[in-house]
Amino acid sequence: MNLFDSHAHYNDEKFDKDREKIIDETLNNNVSNFIVAGYNIESSIKAIEIAKKYKEVYAIIGISPNDLEDINMQEDIKNKILELEKIIYNSNFNNTNSENKIVAIGEIGLDYYWNKENKKIQKEIFINQIKLANKLNLPIVIHTREAVSDTLEILKENEVNKKGIFHCCPLNRELVKQALKLNYYISLSGVITFKNSKNADEIIQIVPEEKLLIETDSPYLAPEPVRGTRNNCMNVKYIAKKIAEVKNKTIEEIAEITNNNAKKIFNIK
Ligand SMILES: [Zn+2]
Repeated sequence: MNLFDSHAHYNDEKFDKDREKIIDETLNNNVSNFIVAGYNIESSIKAIEIAKKYKEVYAIIGISPNDLEDINMQEDIKNKILELEKIIYNSNFNNTNSENKIVAIGEIGLDYYWNKENKKIQKEIFINQIKLANKLNLPIVIHTREAVSDTLEILKENEVNKKGIFHCCPLNRELVKQALKLNYYISLSGVITFKNSKNADEIIQIVPEEKLLIETDSPYLAPEPVRGTRNNCMNVKYIAKKIAEVKNKTIEEIAEITNNNAKKIFNIK
């Protein structure tokens, strides 16, 4: 089986002690590829470093709405975007090269659950990163939490040429429907396996096969039956299994569908 984990943080300090071991294990356990997701400058640099070491691994880089502590004014936003651009060009980024390791700008977006005080800054840096994605001809990977209408409004007003992915997509029917209408991919995480996720089955049914992705968001959100542990990409099989049950498919079929979708949106040959 060739599972593709569309979103993990093997750049997180929780993997500092056994990163190489867990990556070797991952790539030997039915996971053919995975994405390392950045969320600030430091973690984005680390994501690229990891991706460069393994041919099966790719990086997405960006500033998440929960990593804006040091951004207070217009000038700070400009400097952050410049810093991000610098990382990209220093990594010999070349979008037309099949060896390219940076496959999207993310995770970026809005989070009013953790941060209510700086909505304006969140929106501005989100929009600026959309512009950067368009400049580089890359898709975006969106983090949105308790900010559905503002997120959708920004996406409607700031079209992303290569579209993108709703990462760890909230199980919100309206959001999923609107996201699909905008031609975005829906990436489902371990949340769909949680016993208290009452509408998981309905959401799984709504997402058509051609827009479906799976992810672990490791080290967070370990799925059932390993909930509460440090998550890793090998657990993406539990997410595929749950989707297979609801969609009446085999886990191998879901693996193949989501693998092909991931390669398409991330432009991986
Ligand atoms: Zn994440």
